[in-house]
Parts: sequence; C-alpha cells; structure tokens
Amino acid sequence: MPDPYLLTPGPLTTSATVKAAMLHDWGSRDAAFIAATASVRDRLVRLAGAEETHTCVLMQGSGTFVVEAMIGSLVPPSGTLLVLVNGAYGRRMVTIAERLGRAAAVLEWPEDKAVDAAAVATRLAGDPAISHVAVVQCETTSGLLNPLDDIAAVCAEQRRPLLIDAMSAFGALPLDARATPFMAVAASSNKCLEGVPGLGFAIVRCDALAAAAGNAPSLSLDLYDQWRGFEDNGQWRFTPPTHVLMALAQALDEHAAEGGTAGRGVRYRRNLDILVSGMAQLGFAPLLAPDLQAPIIVTFRMPTDPAFLFERFYAGLSQRGYVIYPGKLTVADSFRIGCIGRIGEAEMHGALAAIAEVMGELGVASGAPPRLEAAK
Ligand SMILES: *Cc1c(COP(=O)(O)O)cnc(C)c1O
Repeated sequence: MPDPYLLTPGPLTTSATVKAAMLHDWGSRDAAFIAATASVRDRLVRLAGAEETHTCVLMQGSGTFVVEAMIGSLVPPSGTLLVLVNGAYGRRMVTIAERLGRAAAVLEWPEDKAVDAAAVATRLAGDPAISHVAVVQCETTSGLLNPLDDIAAVCAEQRRPLLIDAMSAFGALPLDARATPFMAVAASSNKCLEGVPGLGFAIVRCDALAAAAGNAPSLSLDLYDQWRGFEDNGQWRFTPPTHVLMALAQALDEHAAEGGTAGRGVRYRRNLDILVSGMAQLGFAPLLAPDLQAPIIVTFRMPTDPAFLFERFYAGLSQRGYVIYPGKLTVADSFRIGCIGRIGEAEMHGALAAIAEVMGELGVASGAPPRLEAAK
C-alpha cells in the first residue's frame, strides 16, 4: 500500500526526496550537521524578510513547544499579554500564558469572523497594562486568514510588540518583517514548508532576544539560552532532531525551487479552488466567506442528509488513500479538508472522486448543510 495523502493540518504529505534526506545518522557535533543548522536558520530568517533585524532560534518539539517558548521567553514576568482569539490556537496561547504565570487579557471573536484591528486599537489605547499582543495568522481551527498587516500596524502605532503564531501560514502566505512589524513569529517544520514534524522555530528581533535573558520559566523552552547555544558554538543545547533538520534543509531547497513563498502559495491556492468548486458540485458548503478563507484548510459544514455519517465517510476515504480531519469548531458541526503538503491538482481531483464514490456507497444524495437561517 502506498502512503495515504494527508489532507489535514499536519503532519502532511512530504516528497520522497525529503524523506530520503533522513537516511543517514549525524552526530550533534558533525560539521555537516552544524553547517546545515546554520544554513536553515539563515534561510528561515530570509523567508521572513528579516535578515536585517531578526534571528532564528530553532526548537525541538512540535509547533506548540515553540509557541510556548516564544511567550515564556519574550513576555517578562511583569508583562501582560493580550491574545486575539478566534479559534482553538488563539485559545491555546491564553492557556500557555496562564500556565506560565503571565497575565493574559483576551479579545475574542466567533470562529467564523476575522480579528478586527479597530477593536484591537481601542483596547490597546484603553489598557496601558498590556505589554505584548499575540495573534494567529491563519486560524487552522476554521482555515480563516486574519488581517495580519492591519493588526501589526495597530500594534506598532500603539507601541506594543506583536507575537505571531504563523504555524499554518509560514512559507505559503506572505510575511515580510520590513512591511509587517513584529517582535517574533513562530512556525514549524511540518506545515507549509513540507518538512517532517519534530522542530519549531521562532524568528525574533535581535534586540528583544538580547533583552530576554532570565525571562523564561522553563529550562528547555528558553529561546534566549537556546539562541546563545547556537551563537556560541553552532550547536543545539540538547539532543538535536538531526533527521528532522536535514529533512527541513532539503524541504527548503524544494521550497526555493518552487518559487519560494509566492510559488507555494500559487499551488495551494489552486488546490483550494479545485477542492471548493468540486465539493460545491457535490452540494457541500464551506463555513467561511471566500474573502476570509486561507488556502490552507477548508472547513465544510456537516450535511443534513441522515445517511452522512462522518465516521463512515472518513473510513471510506481513508481506505481509498485520503485522510481528512474532523472539525474543531464550536460554532457549527463540521469537518475539514486540507490543501497543503506535497499534493497538487491530481491529488485534489483524486480526493474529490473518492468523496463522490464514498457518498454513493453511503447513499448520501447531497452534501448540502442546513440552510444558514435554520442553523442559527
Ligand atoms: C499546527 C498548529 C500549531 C502547533 O500545533 P502542534 O500540534 O503543536 O504542532 C499551532 N498553531 C497553529 C495555528 C497551527 O496550525
């Protein structure tokens, strides 16, 4: 059996060449590995247009580990973090701040609405205790793209440093430190960069990082100490994810060959268009208005047809080699299909054909959800 296509928010389908990059063993002090670490750090900073101002700190673990390291290291114990929440990943940052003993303030929107930069401006103007702001660029809970440029402009105007969770956007959606001011952005190896899971990274303003010594309440999730390690001898502080790093180096070569962030964004946008129009032909409707939909993952509202049983739908697709994802929404019953990873037109059409087949097998006539009026 070939590997299934992972139409999920991650881990994702990777290329054969990315997987093949892991077929060696490297010691942590191996010169080739140290050079690859430096090169990956350098290339990630450049992808964010941040080589003049920021540096990249790699961190072992999944994406959440580096978000936790970012908050714990950059928000000092005396600070207050305003988290802009319109989904589970924003809510997770609130939980992280609370666990770390940082004061957290919350501005919240429904999961199918974007963060409103004007409301952020009002809140910041009226609450001088807020020292930092955190936002998710693409809320993977729904697939919604937040207006990052507007939010960053408001934060800059109000002189509050911005921390961005760009986990599901970095490498596919534009982000340039010269145009969008931010203190730090966090992302991981296994989403739009199409590496394998196992490391995250934060791209942090050098002045902010230099001032962050002693902030982190954690030994391992300390961006400052981790950064000093890389700068002092080029090595990771603790056992590095050697294979993951070498796979990411290969994935970054492939990202550049595809035309970088712009090129990758074009492929994902095409995947999205094929998915949404093909699903519409089968009756399915996305949750989000098209102007809020990022080309990352699509939330579809659950059909009303009583023959549509999600577990059977999921299993039928999985048998045909396509893995989809349950919904994570509180506003509506839903499921999700991703359009990122090493997949293109052929795989999207293949997934749609499999969906039509499974609907036939289940006796589902249409994927139409309840009418919006009725759903309210
Ligand atoms: C995937 C993701 C994360 C990190 O999740 P992990 O499971 O820890 O890798 C964080 N934020 C967003 C927006 C994500 O999509």
